Amino acid sequence: MDTPKKCAHVACPCPAPKDSDYCSTYCEGIGDVVDISCNCGHGHCDSTNAAPVA
Ligand SMILES: [Zn+2]
Ligand SMILES: [Zn+2]
Repeated sequence: MDTPKKCAHVACPCPAPKDSDYCSTYCEGIGDVVDISCNCGHGHCDSTNAAPVA
């Protein structure tokens, strides 16, 4: 089973690599902070309108 997991940051819809709980160092850095938005730099996070991952 290789189920894709979501980034551990609650506001981040990015998929996380299987060897990490977070999609990026940004999310890892704020993993304990419950924020309403994500600025990890990925396209759908960089926008105010979070689009679903294809
Ligand atoms: Zn993100
Ligand atoms: Zn993330």
